[in-house]
Amino acid sequence: MTAGDPLLAVHGGAGRLPRRALSRKNRAAYEEGLASALKAGWRTLRRGGSALKAVTEAVAVLEDHQLFNAGRGAALCADGTAELSASLMNGKSREVGAMVGLRRARNPIRAAGTLIGHAHGLLFGEEADRYAAQHGIEQVPQDYFRTEHRWAQWQKRRGTGKITLDHDEENAHGTVGAVARDRRGNLAAATSTGGLVNQLPGRVGDTPVVGAGTWADNGVCAVSATGKGDAFARVAFARRVADLIELGGLSAQEAAESALEEVKNVGGEGGCILIDRNGMCVLPFNSAHMLRGWIGRDGRPHVAIGPDQDVELPAS
Ligand code: ASP
Repeated sequence: MTAGDPLLAVHGGAGRLPRRALSRKNRAAYEEGLASALKAGWRTLRRGGSALKAVTEAVAVLEDHQLFNAGRGAALCADGTAELSASLMNGKSREVGAMVGLRRARNPIRAAGTLIGHAHGLLFGEEADRYAAQHGIEQVPQDYFRTEHRWAQWQKRRGTGKITLDHDEENAHGTVGAVARDRRGNLAAATSTGGLVNQLPGRVGDTPVVGAGTWADNGVCAVSATGKGDAFARVAFARRVADLIELGGLSAQEAAESALEEVKNVGGEGGCILIDRNGMCVLPFNSAHMLRGWIGRDGRPHVAIGPDQDVELPAS
């Protein structure tokens, strides 16, 4: 593992943003959200902090931001409740932390982080919330997650059985994730979501499943995915990308594009953010949009939403 410049990338979900969601005002709000997450993670990296801490801090900012489908403002299930899931992985130790179906932890990514170093890597439901509370994670009532927008969306959707990716919605928000490489060359990945709009309570997508939505291994890469999670899970997406690099000899861009093609072949779409062990950062997607950005040496956030926007990727 070579040490080098620290680097951080984030995403705020993928899909097809409707025209209204792309107004100048909305774009500015998305970009501001992504930029503040990048800056939060960068503060950690700049001071010599770990990649794991950097991805946690970046994702926590997006969870607190009600414009994104994670933490406050998360998509609601068919019964009108918010069920939150998150996972993170430390590329140095291959330790993981994942929590599924949280209903009270304010920051699901911090809750998942309490499992790093524990013998268990994944907890679900009430016991997950309880474990997080016992480990100092702030608890909030359900109302905290249910924003006005989400409540109105649920009222419109209840009883219809129509399930959608949040970014395909009239007033789109998005699942969030981060990948980082710290000064010592360690990699980490983190992903957090409220799931799909109107999903069945109890549904588990790719986000909290290590190897599907999240993967980090210092010897290969760190990946965080977003999109139609059931399809990403069916191709074990994040681990698939890593295998295509490690065993298939593909570049980061080729591996991610190839795995996204597999997602498409099983009826899904979306994208991912990836940093490889050499510090190559790629942000590919096969949906119409993906909220994304990165920050590196100059400490300046670079963010984009559509395919037409160049985010001037850093050279490795
Ligand atoms: N992948 C997430 C899920 O299926 C949704 C998203 O990325 O927006 O739960």
